[in-house]
Amino acid sequence: MTETGNVQRIPGYCALCTSKCGCISVVKDERMIALEPDPSHPTGQALCGKGRAAPELVHHDERLLYPLRRTRPKGEADPGWERISWDEALDTVASELNAIAAQHGPESVAFGITTPSGTGLQDAYTWVERLRHAFGSPNAVFGTEICNFHRDDVYAFTFGVGTPMPDFTNTDCILLWGHNPSATWLAYASRVAAAKARGAKLVVVDPRREGLANKADQWLRVRPGSDGALALGLAHVLIKSGNFDADFVRN
Ligand code: SF4
Repeated sequence: MTETGNVQRIPGYCALCTSKCGCISVVKDERMIALEPDPSHPTGQALCGKGRAAPELVHHDERLLYPLRRTRPKGEADPGWERISWDEALDTVASELNAIAAQHGPESVAFGITTPSGTGLQDAYTWVERLRHAFGSPNAVFGTEICNFHRDDVYAFTFGVGTPMPDFTNTDCILLWGHNPSATWLAYASRVAAAKARGAKLVVVDPRREGLANKADQWLRVRPGSDGALALGLAHVLIKSGNFDADFVRN
């Protein structure tokens, strides 16, 4: 942390999504006034609009800062929120959960977990999972993104492992297919941009000219739903030219 007069600059990372961009919180008179990128951090080259809006979130009038209990029935215009202590909140939740488990079994409870990719839950969802396991429920309800399922699961189904971070440092060609990391994973987009600046070629398959498509050496503007034809065409070219690892594919 550095301090100049009444302004503090505190290094950290933005926890608002999975990108975890390195940043500097600028605090003046004990009030956060800005969030700035921290280029000295591995993921701190840039911040998106949501990250830069952090002061608005931190100081928003309706930000929830402590537990509240509803005192009026659901559906009433005024829920009658009243402030309670953390101990009381945790005791209430624990006793309600235990009562349900005693009557219906722990598997009758589903633990809902919102997407860690687009929210601040990235650092916390493993704790929810730990609670779920300790409680004895097999039911986790996850939210995910349309661009995420194939990344997490299709690679695992196809190759047996999830996709690792691509070798952006050494690659000569990057293909982004239906993936706009400028909007969904800023640190990833920064690595692509750095590879492009180093001389790597960038090919983007996207109906829209968004984000890195603007910097692409080739922007392949497929019609929505026609990716399959492009994939088959590429496979045809690879097979015809022999530019693929036949042993790997065979085995
Ligand atoms: S991409 Fe935006 S919201 Fe996500 S960590 Fe970076 S600055 Fe925060």
